[in-house]
Parts: sequence; structure tokens; C-alpha cells
Amino acid sequence: MKKGRIGMVLLMGAMCGTVSAEVPLEIVRGGRDTVYQQKHYVVGVTKAGNTATVNGETAKVYKTGSFAAELNLKEGTNDVEVVVSDGAEKAVKKLNIFYTKQRPTKLMTLEQAKLQLDKSVLKPCDFNAISKEGAYIQYGDGDDRLGGSKMGFVDAGIVFKVIGEKGGLYKVQLSQNRYAYMPKEYLEPSSEKVQTVNTGSWFVGKDGKYDRISLSLPCRLPYHYWTELDPTRICVDVFGAMDNSNWITQLNDTEMVDYVDFKQVDSDVYRMIIKLKGDYAWGYSVAYEKNNLVVKVKHAPALTLKGMKIGLDAGHGGKHPGAISASGLREKDVNLSMVNEVKALLEAKGATVVLSRDADQDMTMADRKKVFKDAEVDLMISIHNNSGGSPLVEMGSCTAYKHVVNRELAAKMQNRLTELGHKNFGLIGNFNFSLNAPTEYPNVLLEVLFMSSLPEEEKLADKSYHKKVAKQVVLALEDYLKDVKKSQK
Ligand SMILES: [Zn+2]
Repeated sequence: MKKGRIGMVLLMGAMCGTVSAEVPLEIVRGGRDTVYQQKHYVVGVTKAGNTATVNGETAKVYKTGSFAAELNLKEGTNDVEVVVSDGAEKAVKKLNIFYTKQRPTKLMTLEQAKLQLDKSVLKPCDFNAISKEGAYIQYGDGDDRLGGSKMGFVDAGIVFKVIGEKGGLYKVQLSQNRYAYMPKEYLEPSSEKVQTVNTGSWFVGKDGKYDRISLSLPCRLPYHYWTELDPTRICVDVFGAMDNSNWITQLNDTEMVDYVDFKQVDSDVYRMIIKLKGDYAWGYSVAYEKNNLVVKVKHAPALTLKGMKIGLDAGHGGKHPGAISASGLREKDVNLSMVNEVKALLEAKGATVVLSRDADQDMTMADRKKVFKDAEVDLMISIHNNSGGSPLVEMGSCTAYKHVVNRELAAKMQNRLTELGHKNFGLIGNFNFSLNAPTEYPNVLLEVLFMSSLPEEEKLADKSYHKKVAKQVVLALEDYLKDVKKSQK
């Protein structure tokens, strides 16, 4: 996932030594002159087959030529000598690393201080605003490298009551007792009123490849949807709505939907409950058609790889290399190679494969999602490789999902990846990765191995290993389809 080269290399003044043309030696991590952590990794690259020592201790040289050592620094100056040799000649680099516990204090500009204050204080507001295309709501005002935790997307044309602002977010009141945050760019001040209204009739029936549930409303209200397991159902809370749905038409021709029901969970919060027939869902969407709130539940595909349409996403691309390994392997290339291997196997089994990118090109998250949505894929797998932690040990695989309904698909992937002997870095739930957000099709993110781990880098540098990974991904898909079939009996 991570962008950029592992560790910035600041060698000026911190390093000297001799390098022979025959015995290459490059320090790619840990060469910096001042550090603030006692545990320090030095990572270097030479030619495969050479030997390496760091301060006299032998460091294993991998087939990629990478080697690493963990140092326990003393406070003050530490002399580190890195020696690589091909048996006849050697190359030496001397590092001079200064370790201090005291990080320098950074002085803030007035502008930065103002911005920080802006982000930390909730200022009251009182106006109405209308949502724009692409808008989403967050539970809180939190943030991390992938953004704040999303409640979900909301349609355009919904009037929100704005009661506060904090940094780039507005705080909106959804109902008497429910609040959310929205990025400012998705709201436009409006003179339209926020209303509490009565719900109208429902219609439930089959519509082509979908089951369609429609709730009529006199105006567009904010909503929040999610899935639940045991029993598997889709729930939609409609804010500012009171039950007056005295007519729920059910044609009983639905393929996925067992029955619908509702619950008035607060005096102005109306919950639509859509119970599914099986344990698994194949995607759904919630959006307005005029003022009708429409939930479309996608019918199950054939449940064999033959005939299924599968989306595959190779992470990063173009000017975004993703993580770069010690020996210079780029995550974007590894991801694409793995995707191509999975594609070949799936196509051999009769599946149709839709790729977000098939070349080394830049692509926004929005463009990737559009490809899969437009193609109406039956499910989607995004392939990445990770970075971080110790370069000396294997870090392992992890698989991530956002919606609990995709948990089992992710678990199947994780099981098959760890079968290769990979450590279990974890099954990650509620992951805030953009490509895990869509509900229109099941989706998971694989972080196959760590680019930054030297033993894993060795595997990733071996193209035949990509085939092994691909085989496991396809087995996991077959495991999943088997489970889905079983649950329908
Ligand atoms: Zn990545």
C-alpha cells in the first residue's frame, strides 16, 4: 500500500567507503546521519552470491542481492561498517549514525497554527445545504491516511441541516438524535427546508438482473445503509421519516429478497429491513429515483467460475510505483504481474475478467471503481503488496474488507494465502480503502506480502511465485462459491 521508497536515504556526510566496480554496494535504508530510535535497520544491496557483514556480523544476502542488519544504537555517535565481498574483492561503506532521543521541535508558522486550531475546534453553524454528486457521510471527525471512517455514500439533492464546521468537515444533523460529518466540498448552501415527513408505500419485485425495493417519499431525505449477517439482510435508515407506509406490495417473484419489513427506531428514524434468502449477497445499491428511495439487490451469478464476470485491480501504476523494495522492485509491477496470472487462470476456467488497468498507467480510485461498476462485475479483487516493519523477518499476508457481508470472501482469500506458508498478518475488517467501499459487488483487498521484508522480497522477485499466489486466489474463489452453494441447500 505504502507509497515511496522504503526509508528516505540521506547519505551526505554520513557515509564514506570504497566500492569496487566488481563488488557493488548500495545502502538503501538506514544510512541517515541522525536518528531518534534505538533499534535501527541498515539495508543494503549487492550482487547475489556475495557475502555481507555489518559491524563484523554476517548478514544473509538474498537472491535479490539485498541484505539487512538490526542495530541497537548507543546514544551519540555510532560507527557502522558495511562490508560486502565476492571472495576476491570487497567493497566497504562506513556509516556514521548519530542517535538521540530528543527529536528537534518544529516551529509552526502562523498559517499552520491557524489551520491546526481550525481542525481541532468545532465552530457552530446554522444553515441548510444540499448534497452534491459523490457525497458521503462519516460517523465522526476522525481521519487517517485513507480518510475518516465512512458511514456510506449519499445521493445528490438531499437537504442537510449544517450545525457546525471543523477543518474541512461540516457537522450535519440527520435526525433529532443522530449526527454525522461530511466533507465541505460535497455540500452547497441551500434555501430549501429540512423536513420530517411521512413515508409512503413500498414496492418489492424483480427487475431484470435485480430485485427492486422502492420506498416512496415526498422529498429526498438523508439515509445510511449497511449489511448484517445471521440473518443476512440489508438495512437502510431513513432520517427525518415517520412511518405511514400502509401499503407494502410484494410480488413474491424476487430471487434474492426473502421479505421486507420496517422498524421506527426513533421518532424520526425509519429503518427499511430487507431480509435475503441465502447467507450471501452479490451486491446492492441505494439511490433515489425522483423522490423514491430505491434499493437494487443484484441476483446471484451462476456460482461457477465459468460464466462469472470478475474484476481484478492491480494497485498503483504510472507515476505511482507503490512500495519499492530494497533491490528496486516496484509494487505496481508486482501487482500487475499477479493480476495477469490470476486473469489467465480465471479465463482458462471460463470466467470473464475485467481489469482496471492492463498496463503501467495512472488511474484514480474513482476511475477504477467506474470500470467495475459499469461492467457490472460479480465480484472484485484488488491486489497490492505491503510495506513496513522489520526487513529481516517475514511479515505475512493480510486481506481486507469493509462491509461484513464480504468477510467470508476475505477469510477464504486469507486462508489460501497463508497456505503458502505466509504469516497471518490478519483479516482486516472495516478497512477504509476506497475500492472496498462499493456495495454494488463483493470486493476484497489482498496485501500479498511485504515489499520491505527481504525474505518476502526474494519471493516477490520470482515470477513463478506470482503464479503460486494466483493459484491460491482462484482456489479461494472456488472455496467461496462452494460455500455459497452449500448455504442455498
Ligand atoms: Zn499498494
